Amino acid sequence: MKVLVINCGSSSLKYQLIDMENESVLAKGICERIGAEGSVLTHKPAGKDKFVTEQPMPDHSVAVKLVIDALQDPEHGVIESADEITAIGHRVLHAGTVYSDATLVTEDVKKVVRDCFDLGPLHNPANLIGIEACEKAMPGKPNVAVFDTAFGMNMPQKAAMYAIPYEYYEKYSIRRYGFHGTSHMFVSGETVKLLGKDDAKVIVCHIGNGASISASIGGKCVDTSMGLTPLEGLIMGTRSGDVDPAVLQFICNHEHISVDEMLNILNKKSGLLGLSGVSSDLRDVVKAAGEENERAKLALEAYVYRIVKYIGAYAAAMNGVDAIVFTAGVGENSVPIRENVCKSLGYLGVELDKKKNENVSGDTAIISSDDSKVKVIVLPTNEELAIARETVKLV
Ligand code: ADP
Repeated sequence: MKVLVINCGSSSLKYQLIDMENESVLAKGICERIGAEGSVLTHKPAGKDKFVTEQPMPDHSVAVKLVIDALQDPEHGVIESADEITAIGHRVLHAGTVYSDATLVTEDVKKVVRDCFDLGPLHNPANLIGIEACEKAMPGKPNVAVFDTAFGMNMPQKAAMYAIPYEYYEKYSIRRYGFHGTSHMFVSGETVKLLGKDDAKVIVCHIGNGASISASIGGKCVDTSMGLTPLEGLIMGTRSGDVDPAVLQFICNHEHISVDEMLNILNKKSGLLGLSGVSSDLRDVVKAAGEENERAKLALEAYVYRIVKYIGAYAAAMNGVDAIVFTAGVGENSVPIRENVCKSLGYLGVELDKKKNENVSGDTAIISSDDSKVKVIVLPTNEELAIARETVKLV
């Protein structure tokens, strides 16, 4: 069975075609600058040269069509016809409180995705366009929506609720949802398997450009750091993470800007970028800190401190922890961030093996010492595979 996984952003479309017989990626790629000048498709078929084409993509339907053409192209294609695709799995950001588990797309599912536009204003409209474009391009094929909130929807009410008047939950479903759910589900599930312990207490640090952290027992979410939107929690590339909401009012009043403008600042101009003034990319900030840029040093210290603080809170929430797992761009690649986080976790019985930490090479690796009470693991996330697995379950 071949499953096409689609992840639509506001101006991009990432895809993977996965052969579920052996979970191998037949081809993957990305359409960028959809709806703008200079749209580009980069298609990477397994075992063949990558193919890049600049073609007008006024909307996501055109992008989907180009992807399907590329997949069946005589030269750089990997299938003879789109009939070989059994189903399409879509990453969808938000379904409010209506859906948590992955679900076959129906008219009702699309309505719910549409009703949640204001909860995910950047992602939900693009996700829906992606679904409708696939329905149009491959009529009759099952489409499955896999929600980014799925993992966090299972956290207990006491972790999910904001302590604000209950009527806002009843009226508008205001609660904590958590995001990067597919990644947390995949990584925590793989960790449970790796440890061979069904009720393993696991903390997953998904640290990329966006960043979130979760606590789970036996793969079931206990708590996760993102909230109603992906803004809450850790310091990220451009997002502030946790701030006192009164900061918004203060800055809005003094700078004469609207709440929408302020939220844009908290989402796009804050985090590592805002604190360091250098970049949202961790590599640039590490480089600047190495050149004695004081604000870059401060940004890194705050970034690590926030992770350490959450790990402490989550170990407490679970009354213990068996494994701390690093994943995503920074988690999988940054030796100093992993080292600096673990430095402050001695009280939990964490003992990092410096050599193992330095020698991680893209695969799953245990980087704690053999005697460490808590295992520290690097485990590459694979959201596309997780989406494809959920899709297979439903078709
Ligand atoms: P996204 O949230 O966009 O999916 P990724 O998980 O791809 O993000 O992570 C992107 C981030 O990972 C980059 O901004 C960069 O800071 C970081 N990163 C990637 N490679 C490395 C590396 N070798 N060392 C340190 N950081 C890295």
